[in-house]
Amino acid sequence: MVDLIERAARDIVRSSYAIALTGAGISTESGIADFRGPSGVWTKNPEAEAQAYRSYPEFTRDPKRWWEKQLSGQAHDPLGSLEHARPNAGHHALVDLEKMGILKATITQNIDALHEKAGSTHLLEFHGSRSKLRCLSCNTRFNPNVFDFQKLQQEDRLPPRCLECNQPLKSDVVYFGEPIPADVAEKSYAEALQCDLMLIAGTSAAVYPFANLPRIARERGGVKIIEVNAEPTLLTKEGISDYLLQGKTGEILPAIVDLVREVRVVN
Ligand code: NAD
Repeated sequence: MVDLIERAARDIVRSSYAIALTGAGISTESGIADFRGPSGVWTKNPEAEAQAYRSYPEFTRDPKRWWEKQLSGQAHDPLGSLEHARPNAGHHALVDLEKMGILKATITQNIDALHEKAGSTHLLEFHGSRSKLRCLSCNTRFNPNVFDFQKLQQEDRLPPRCLECNQPLKSDVVYFGEPIPADVAEKSYAEALQCDLMLIAGTSAAVYPFANLPRIARERGGVKIIEVNAEPTLLTKEGISDYLLQGKTGEILPAIVDLVREVRVVN
């Protein structure tokens, strides 16, 4: 492992445009379950996955009813409350790399806003964020605090509406069957086409179209692809990644960053 950490640090220092891709695994050490790991939500409860597929069609069919269900607490929430979750050493390590000017963007599948809380600024939330609302028509995002949901419900004015174009708002989270918001998708593909190093942390890389990003980078050639994950993934097995550092992101990412600092001093 020490050899691989050294190898990753050297590759990162040599890169000129590094980006990070993250998934649910980077947040398990913050107490948020992943979906497909050994203790994942879907692994333990396959019916929860089936329920999750219903949310987007329910919203498009009847946004008012969808909001009533959310506000009444009847809506199924596979992750539970994330209010008290805090970023861990893995999130902070990526912020450190960004501050060093090495990491140019972090593209996450996570909806928990922990990269934002840790201080990542060049952040693309591919599957949206639980802490925002989004207009499906013009993609404007809003802080939910802008709306008084109780009042809207009492006055029979649900769903909340976009302040730009008056269309119904939904959670920014991208549900199954829902297209990835065009603005985020375009920027993410552009990053995958520009990077010369991709650091992939805590994702099974089983969810598309996100899982296309490493494949796009691999097809270009000349891009170093490094994985940090608790177990081998499809990217490992298919040879998409150059190598895997197997273990916890909260331990391995800070160890890489410490060595990056040392290597930069020596060079
Ligand atoms: P996934 O559940 O499919 O895979 C997570 C991977 O991370 C697994 O391979 C697991 O073994 C590994 N892992 C778990 N803990 C780890 C740790 N401490 N260190 C290193 N590796 C670890 O997750 P995914 O690929 O992100 O796909 C799940 C989808 O569900 C995503 O689209 C995401 O939007 C959503 N999701 C988000 C959250 C969140 O926001 N925190 C949590 C669960 C699911």
